[in-house]
Amino acid sequence: MERRTRVRFAPSPTGPLHMGGVRTALYNYLFAKQRGGDFIIRIEDTDSQRFVPGAEQYIIDSLRWCGIIPDEGVDENGRIVETPSEKHPHAPYRQSQRKDIYRKYAEQLVENGYAYYAFDTAEELAAMRAEAEARKETFIYNHETRGRLKNSLTLPKEEWERRVKEETGWTIRFKMPLDRIVKMDDLIRGHIEVNTGILDDKVLWKSHDGLPTYHLANIVDDHLMEITEVIRGEEWLPSLPLHYLLYEAFGWTDSMPRFAHLSLLLKPDGKGKLSKRDGDRLGFPVFPLQWVNQEGEITRGYREEGYLPEAFVNMLAMLGWNPGDDRELFTMDELVKAFSLERVIKSGARFNPEKAKWYNREYLRKMPDAEIAAQFREILDSHGIDRNRFDDTYVLGVIRLTKERATFIKDFWDIAHYLFIAPSSFNEADAKKFWKPENVALMKQAADFINGFEPFTEEDLEPALSDYIHSNEWPMGKVMNTLRLALIGSSSGLGIAAVATTIGKEETAARVAFACKTLS
Ligand code: GLU
Repeated sequence: MERRTRVRFAPSPTGPLHMGGVRTALYNYLFAKQRGGDFIIRIEDTDSQRFVPGAEQYIIDSLRWCGIIPDEGVDENGRIVETPSEKHPHAPYRQSQRKDIYRKYAEQLVENGYAYYAFDTAEELAAMRAEAEARKETFIYNHETRGRLKNSLTLPKEEWERRVKEETGWTIRFKMPLDRIVKMDDLIRGHIEVNTGILDDKVLWKSHDGLPTYHLANIVDDHLMEITEVIRGEEWLPSLPLHYLLYEAFGWTDSMPRFAHLSLLLKPDGKGKLSKRDGDRLGFPVFPLQWVNQEGEITRGYREEGYLPEAFVNMLAMLGWNPGDDRELFTMDELVKAFSLERVIKSGARFNPEKAKWYNREYLRKMPDAEIAAQFREILDSHGIDRNRFDDTYVLGVIRLTKERATFIKDFWDIAHYLFIAPSSFNEADAKKFWKPENVALMKQAADFINGFEPFTEEDLEPALSDYIHSNEWPMGKVMNTLRLALIGSSSGLGIAAVATTIGKEETAARVAFACKTLS
């Protein structure tokens, strides 16, 4: 029988979610939705030393902003589910609250000879590491060394049994078999074989905090939560042999999930993993939302930079996946239909900040003007622009006029502020270049022409103004630039006809008069 598709995104709350993590969540989500399956969130917080307060909620909020809504693990209010219900049968979805589940599985492995208790203290291990280093070697807890270390394989039974009961410094380690070839399949990378001789005896359980390590909790939970595919970052590929062997040791190979390891997101120059430092250096965000660390330091996210979530998601989807043709624009629903792991690339995907902006421009163009207007209105408010003077029709007109030039909604102010407030000063270089005392009469004449012109629309005024300048045998470029300087305060910006017909005849005349007075 075909199993219902169930995939999970299993972040550790060790800090803000990097855009690469969002992409992993997205690919899981697309995969699940395409197959009518479930997308589950599980918080892997068994490493208490790396726990960062606020990170869990940040991760969930980020996914929500992107429209990546889990079927299981997170409730309607965006909180991790802690008690089981019909919709969330595997709760709690936070591993630290599943503590009681894991120990028996760790012990089962010891009983069956797949794992052992280890009593070496952190200091002893550190000393052995240092010694090995002095000999230019590396100390590894493995088949070679375990026989001379303090563990249940070397100590008398009564002793290790007593110590397990009485002490709290021990761990349970996986007994990596010697010289076995683990044969693995990855949905993206194909067949992989690894000899166990190079692998170490990973810690599975720690008695000091009564918690499993990532490896044990991850395998046990994927099994209990009936996960069918594990789609995660390639940093976990080296752990795959251990995970295969754990499934085998538990006798769960028949229901073992299939694995897919995603390649890294690379820096814009393609050299190495994309990091927060690259973002700071090159001026682009690497986090979806703003993050405030414990020192109060703020890092802006895509949302704060003005990216639309649809654009961000589309851009991320294309970083490492392609539909097989040239198409670049996909809504979430279209991605769900088109996505396939077969078309996910094996090599790293280079991040291009310019492309991210391109996506935003495309989505801004598709956004209904009324929606842009609502958000632009808030920016106008923050600049003290009077709502009574500039009604919705006016704002919509401005948006239609400037939409092609904007990448973000915040750009509308930079592009079009002069359609709301008259210039109180003039660009010095432009004024020096274009404003000549003999122009004053000419400007007044042009203003009179504009003032008397009907029908007062951009389409009509634009050619008429050109004809008028021509017929007077005035130098076209000079006059246009001087007029623009008078109307908007600099010689670059929207066309004269567009500005004049937007701000109106009276305002046009007033601005020309002000310029003539100020600049002469
Ligand atoms: N907790 C792991 C992480 O944060 C999950 C890895 C996995 O998906 O198995 O990367």
